[in-house]
Amino acid sequence: MDLYDVIIIGAGPAGLTAAIYTSRSRLKTLLIESFTVPGQAVVTSDIENYPGFPEGLNGFELIDKFKKQAGKFGAMFKVGDVKEIKKRKLEDEDVWEINLNEESILGSSVILAMGAHPKKLDVPGEEALIGKGVSYCAVCDAAFFKNKKIAVIGGGNTAIEEALFLTKFADKVTVIHRRNKLRAAEILQERAFADKKIEFIWDSIVESIQGQEKIGSLRLKNVKTNEENTFDCDGVFVFVGYEPNTGFIKDTIRLDENGYVIADENMSTSKPGIFACGDVRKKLLRQIVTACGDGAIAAVSARMYLQHLKEGLPKK
Ligand code: NAP
Repeated sequence: MDLYDVIIIGAGPAGLTAAIYTSRSRLKTLLIESFTVPGQAVVTSDIENYPGFPEGLNGFELIDKFKKQAGKFGAMFKVGDVKEIKKRKLEDEDVWEINLNEESILGSSVILAMGAHPKKLDVPGEEALIGKGVSYCAVCDAAFFKNKKIAVIGGGNTAIEEALFLTKFADKVTVIHRRNKLRAAEILQERAFADKKIEFIWDSIVESIQGQEKIGSLRLKNVKTNEENTFDCDGVFVFVGYEPNTGFIKDTIRLDENGYVIADENMSTSKPGIFACGDVRKKLLRQIVTACGDGAIAAVSARMYLQHLKEGLPKK
């Protein structure tokens, strides 16, 4: 089995930035990209708060550039879903064994950058109608809703940003929010309130999603009056936050009560040799720009850890 200096799990802005930095440090770097879970940045329609690009950016194009940059400095890539990570001895050295679907890889250090996946509403009808009108990705599915009537659930940055994007396709976009105040950045709120295609239903939650082969309606409940009613629509886009992709690591390192990795300011986790960066980490602000910062720090910390190992100094 090959031994890598650094194995990075996750090919979003955090993992790819870490790969740029570790490769430039001439560390043998392997980046594992998920087979099944698309990164959040890659499916973002329009990124307008990444510094240096006043005209905005498409998420897919940005990630493609990150990859080219990491590859240019020698990072290697592998597609696969990590199932397990465990400690192993290799000629007296503590290494990490990463089990993918059908193979195992060894790393002297690991950088976790798996990000997060969209939360579901967990209401009747949701699961059965995924791909038949229920979606968690506007970039992927917006084109199916040309001239249709759609609902967006949530009041955060994702919900409002994607509601604005969906107006390019749908006739009417109704944002359904459980409170009467949006959480999204003010600039997005201003745009959404000014957009004639966007309507709001406040203080309401989805009780169920109805339809057979495709969505017909949502059953809504007003949380203040308890009144219920039916909202007819052709599709529903759910943007009610994210959950970290930490399933395979939950018994190995310390996580917070919501499953996010606890790492310090140097991105060190509770296990020596494992670092974490980006949205998978417990932190205040989950943005591309903060993911990149985390990734750079994780890479430098991994490099220092490897140097300590080589020189026989106490591990950090
Ligand atoms: P978020 O900020 O956690 O917002 C989730 C929204 O969904 C909230 O409005 C929440 O309501 C609502 N919600 C949660 N559970 C719900 C449920 N079961 N039923 C109905 N509504 C529910 O998530 P996000 O908007 O996806 O953003 C995630 C992170 O990415 C944030 O840190 C965000 O700033 C960042 N982000 C940034 C940008 C940008 O800067 N352009 C774009 C996208 C995402 P309450 O408001 O009542 O809690």
